[in-house]
Amino acid sequence: MTANFAKKNSLRSIPAMDLLLAMPEVEPYVNDQGREAVKKALGEAVERLRKRVLAGEDLSPSAESVFQIALPVLTERSLGSLRPVVNGTGVVIHTNLGRSCLAPGAIDAVRSAAGRYSTLEYDLSGGARGHRSDHVEWLIKEAAEAEGALVVNNNAGAVLLMLAGLCSGREVVVSRGELVEIGGSFRIPDIMAFSGAKLAEVGATNRTHLKDYRGAITENTAALLKVHPSNFRMEGFTASVSREELAGLAREKGLLFLEDLGSGALADLGSLGLRGEPTVARCLAEGVDLVSFSGDKMLGGPQIGVLAGKKKLVDQLENYPLLRALRVDKMTLAAFEATLRLYLSGKSGEIPTLAMLGQPGEALKKRALRLAARLKKILPPKSVSAVEADDAVGGGAFPAERLPGWAVAVAPPEGKSAGALLAELRNRPVPVIAGARGNMALIHVRTLLDGDDRLICDAFAAISGRE
Ligand SMILES: *Cc1c(COP(=O)(O)O)cnc(C)c1O
Repeated sequence: MTANFAKKNSLRSIPAMDLLLAMPEVEPYVNDQGREAVKKALGEAVERLRKRVLAGEDLSPSAESVFQIALPVLTERSLGSLRPVVNGTGVVIHTNLGRSCLAPGAIDAVRSAAGRYSTLEYDLSGGARGHRSDHVEWLIKEAAEAEGALVVNNNAGAVLLMLAGLCSGREVVVSRGELVEIGGSFRIPDIMAFSGAKLAEVGATNRTHLKDYRGAITENTAALLKVHPSNFRMEGFTASVSREELAGLAREKGLLFLEDLGSGALADLGSLGLRGEPTVARCLAEGVDLVSFSGDKMLGGPQIGVLAGKKKLVDQLENYPLLRALRVDKMTLAAFEATLRLYLSGKSGEIPTLAMLGQPGEALKKRALRLAARLKKILPPKSVSAVEADDAVGGGAFPAERLPGWAVAVAPPEGKSAGALLAELRNRPVPVIAGARGNMALIHVRTLLDGDDRLICDAFAAISGRE
């Protein structure tokens, strides 16, 4: 009886919603998120308290205790969901962190396209309707030395459009060594099935020969498809067929030769020390009829998918209904146009992805030493050091390439694990995403942007209670 009485009393002491909403601490959240959303969050907090009381916990819930329970949710929502972070991983094209950062010129172009009317589909000379991809097609044709070009909203869409529009109902021959899954559930066999084209697998996982392709061709074959194996790499007893040989076979049999290049590079990256991946122009010169690639990987632009190659094929796809569902947004087109112009005018060094990849070791070392010196003023100096560390290109490009870089290693205080330190770094208004080595957090400097050093110092100051 007394227990029940106490419970009832506790339940009764839970403050009414009006009272909760009138709390001065709650007001900023109401201004920011609206009364209804805050009411819901407080209501959920009340519900949790009620359950705890009913479960027999001895509490007398106050307005303050309800607010404290709702606070993590309210704070999280006020910070926004899609938030800027500091990329301290050293992975330049980090898909989970948004792949490429845009060049300043591309950001300006986005801003102006976003806030006003534009010539998106308007032909100024005739005052009539134009085509939205016209803005970038000529630039791609120039940069990739292609006869024709077309853009859709990502490379997965480009591959789908290419297969559906050119090969639906017919067979497409692919090497078993290239039937890979690329992060984020992109699998060639699945895309193929979805497009309506039929997959004809040839060769073995590690070795495929020209005679395998030849043997798979039937009267119902539409194309030979080459797929970049992305992050997947084979070593040892392997064989694959060159583009020239595949192009020759396709020509002989009257087939299309298509390629999903993944992370398409427009500029030769040999000067950055990255070798072994062809430019888009090179693929086309080696005989590929139509190649697809991403805009936000090695190219360093916004998320977009590009098809470049034979004009006849591009024209065919331009009239294919699926294209409408893969249409590119105006802000993306603006960013892409501005990015491509940087290639044409010889200013590709302004593209952050390429600039990060091209940073000399000496500059990285200097930057790591500078950041370490700043952190030593905040943390116990012995816990901080500049170290050599391997970075990565990311985005499925150059998986085998060692990209020597520099990082600042920070040892957590006695009794704290590296994992706990990494979690605290993530739990900041501007989260710092770092790597780990042994029991140390590792902040790679290659992927840091201007102003990030300051954010990193602020984060460590807050964590160590010296804010
Ligand atoms: C990244 C990649 C894709 C998917 O490209 P998105 O632009 O992410 O849609 C497809 N194929 C290959 C080989 C890739 O590397």
